[in-house]
Amino acid sequence: APVLLWLRQDLRLHDQPALIAAAEQGPVIPLYVLDDEGPGEWRIGGAQRWWLHHSLFRLAQDLEAKGSRLILRRGPVAATIAAVLAETGATQVHALRHFEPWWRAAEASLGDALHLHDGNHLIRPDTLTTGSGGAYRIFASFWKALEPKLPPGDPVPAPDHLPAPKHWPASDSLASWGFLPSKPDWATGFGWQVGEDAALAKAHAFRAKVAAYEEQRNLPAEEGTSQLSPHLHFGEISPRTLWDAIRNAPDALKFHTELAWRDFTASLTTALPRYAEEEGRASMKTFPWRSGPHAASDLRAWQRGRTGYPIVDAGMRQLWKTGWMHNRVRMITASFLVKHLLIDWREGERWFWDTLIDADYGNNAVNWQWIAGTGIDANMFTRIMAPLTQSEKFGAGSYIRRWVPELAELPDAVIHDPDEHGRRPANYPPKMIGHREARERALAANRAHR
Ligand code: FAD
Repeated sequence: APVLLWLRQDLRLHDQPALIAAAEQGPVIPLYVLDDEGPGEWRIGGAQRWWLHHSLFRLAQDLEAKGSRLILRRGPVAATIAAVLAETGATQVHALRHFEPWWRAAEASLGDALHLHDGNHLIRPDTLTTGSGGAYRIFASFWKALEPKLPPGDPVPAPDHLPAPKHWPASDSLASWGFLPSKPDWATGFGWQVGEDAALAKAHAFRAKVAAYEEQRNLPAEEGTSQLSPHLHFGEISPRTLWDAIRNAPDALKFHTELAWRDFTASLTTALPRYAEEEGRASMKTFPWRSGPHAASDLRAWQRGRTGYPIVDAGMRQLWKTGWMHNRVRMITASFLVKHLLIDWREGERWFWDTLIDADYGNNAVNWQWIAGTGIDANMFTRIMAPLTQSEKFGAGSYIRRWVPELAELPDAVIHDPDEHGRRPANYPPKMIGHREARERALAANRAHR
């Protein structure tokens, strides 16, 4: 009987232990199911649909080159898989383990037919626990426990050929899912290259940059980070393969620790599956976020990059144009929304979910809660980032000139705060609220709340 290979955020053929295990059992039917119901409001967002289209297209080509196919179906995932099992006479489903709550719910309803394998993290994140068996709350302790278990082992090569079934089940056409054309067209921003080959090439090219990573990673104007996040999210490259690609690069420690953040956020959201919706810190659950028409129009100004804070606007426009934003600027823009505008962190989290090409349940939720000071870690709401100081400190001048064309003529000395220098062009908005005023408002709201 044929065996199902259930593909999710692991759209690759190399270092794919579920594929190897399936092929040992019999002819393999690779299956991708688009489920817009199970994940509820965490169904795949707008930008990611664009990525997913290209990723599935490439994967189907790669499978065909190995004598196989990619079967596409749409519907509630567990019921759809059950239907394909019935149609094909298959009794086994092989898949890599994922930790998003909707995947775990679907896994539970597949029962004994499902065989899960590890391969999307450096370590199976839910197995790394504190002495008392709970998830780590703080990354530093998580890393301390993880580091002795590394490196993560050798990646498994892709098979040369995949055994095919006598009869293939029906498949949707990718075009019928209507992911393209997408608006905006996320291809124009960075010229993203999607798929496994592109991910591998990028990982190998990044090898030369690893040594400078620690120094460069906070500078938005430099391409100092790997930009592998969408490839990692969709599993076009495994963390093990990435580790292997930079194996002998000098000074890789900082990069290794950042890579381990993915494992940390998966471990946290496995322990706290509602972390994308609910504050980890009980006292923050009733925080009086602003609401009403003024808050709504402030939110829109933030989304559109019209806050009057050049670094914030550059970040939000980079996001809209490319589906990606530099990490330092994600921190600045997120903090601005939550603390300067006093808008509920979930609004920002949802906007990122829909516009980020690398939107990831654990990474998004844990980072938003960390910035907002609502999380189970030690970061406090009262730590307020100063966007203008950050912009200067991390030398964001040319980054701003690139993403905010109204300011393209301004020199470094004034670009971070054109208002302050009387150099604001007429077509660029004034600051929505002054930094000091915003800071005082946030601290007062926090005091009143406590
Ligand atoms: P690199 O610096 O090259 O890092 C390599 C990889 O390590 C990344 O691709 C990513 O998989 C992982 N990583 C690095 N930093 C983090 C981190 N802080 N948390 C978790 N994983 C990390 N990352 C996402 O992948 N998806 C998200 O939805 C997401 N939302 C975020 C929201 C906010 C408010 C903030 C502050 C950060 C968010 N991040 C998210 C984390 C981080 O900004 C991105 O992973 C990073 O910018 C991706 O760029 P890169 O691949 O060049 O990273």
